Amino acid sequence: MRDYQFWFVVGSQDLYGPEVLGTVAARAAGMAEAMSRDLPYPLVYKVTADCNWQIADVVREANYDPDCAGIVTWCHTFSPSKMWINGLSNLQKPYCHLATQYNVEIPNEEIDMDFMNLNQAAHGDREHGFIGARMRMARKIIAGHWQDETVRGRLGAWMKAAVGAAFSRELCVMRFGDNMREVAVTEGDKVEVQKKLGWQVNTWPVGQLVEEMNAVTEADIDALMETYAAQYDFATDDMETVRYQAREEIAMKRMMDREGCRAFSNTFQDLYGMRQLPGLASQHLMAQGYGYGGEGDWKVAAMTTILKVMGENGNGASAFMEDYTYHLVPGHQYSLGAHMLEVCPSVAAARPRIEVHPLGIGNREDPARLVFEGKEGDGIVVSLIDMGGRLRLIVQDIHCVKPIMEMPNLPVARVMWQPEPGLTTGVECWITAGGAHHTVLSYDVTAEQMRDWARIMDIEFVHITKDTTVESLEHDLFLSDLAWKLK
Ligand code: MN
Repeated sequence: MRDYQFWFVVGSQDLYGPEVLGTVAARAAGMAEAMSRDLPYPLVYKVTADCNWQIADVVREANYDPDCAGIVTWCHTFSPSKMWINGLSNLQKPYCHLATQYNVEIPNEEIDMDFMNLNQAAHGDREHGFIGARMRMARKIIAGHWQDETVRGRLGAWMKAAVGAAFSRELCVMRFGDNMREVAVTEGDKVEVQKKLGWQVNTWPVGQLVEEMNAVTEADIDALMETYAAQYDFATDDMETVRYQAREEIAMKRMMDREGCRAFSNTFQDLYGMRQLPGLASQHLMAQGYGYGGEGDWKVAAMTTILKVMGENGNGASAFMEDYTYHLVPGHQYSLGAHMLEVCPSVAAARPRIEVHPLGIGNREDPARLVFEGKEGDGIVVSLIDMGGRLRLIVQDIHCVKPIMEMPNLPVARVMWQPEPGLTTGVECWITAGGAHHTVLSYDVTAEQMRDWARIMDIEFVHITKDTTVESLEHDLFLSDLAWKLK
């Protein structure tokens, strides 16, 4: 990860004279410093811009600085917004308009025309907002006092979404094998995705992975087995099988690190020369921040690592997930999520166990995998699909529960949840929108952050909430389809 930072750009004009502009600059610098203490990334005060070229210059600098993940603008005083057109026309970084003001109260005794001249964000930010609307800028707007906890929280959450965008634009995904035969939703236009989201999605032969596995030494495996022992309980005596997963993990990690990849996909249909489908290996790679998608699903692999980055400094709990089966008892309806093997232990409620069981698919030896229950808590599930000509990001609010039964014979990690606005309507909404069976489930990235990310990436966003009905969703999707075709 780069050392990301955000730039605080304050708008004004030269009418006020040096004294007022000096006060604005000093206050803005102090505000940026104070806010940075509560923000996940530094907010660096850059300029109180009073003319066209100063704005154009700071935008140009922001575009060319790979560590600058976005700009935050504000108008303490009035800033005629035609001055912003040349700069904003070239802006390539995420943009947040912080509609705040320096003072929290209107000072009853102190207020006079000098005070009004200095403190006019209420109309300065409207002029600034107009040009954003007029230019159809993709922007985040946050209103409220800069010392307010909620305002700082929302600004911090937006920063994480913007870092997710910066990370996305440099992301490389390693594919081992193609998509599972005949599956549609895991397909997608990789050229369009690279143009829109920046992802470099390329394939490496499974044979090269096998060569890399053969080069792993017993000492390398011993070291990783110690890490496994520190983090997981061994519920098997079959150490050779576990060691084989360690060999696979080391080889995949070496290949990804060498190529600068942060996500990978594989498929049980293409394991030539491998004795086990990677289970524990993929799970422990996900725990280290690598994204993964099963059955060649490179889109969900990339989204998994992006959500892990957006959740940085949170609990890190974002995981590749698959809706598997339902509990449809009236009044107690749940979705059970799992995968054949590959669920990230970051979502585990307790210390995971390493177990070895047969796998009826893929025609390979019994693989070692981590088995655990997912934790309780509110979250989201996220699916990125290719609609042909555009990408759609679907987010659904969910409530994870402690699984309501033990399921002692289920040999995989499992998470159980209730989707909004209830299981059956939620499923109808999800299917109406075309959401995949593969998702990223996250406890610490919010729907608002995913909306911010989708706005920055300029893709369609669909949110299924407690208030969504199938009828309203169908209507929204119909209009959205027209709008995106016109865009
Ligand atoms: Mn799957």
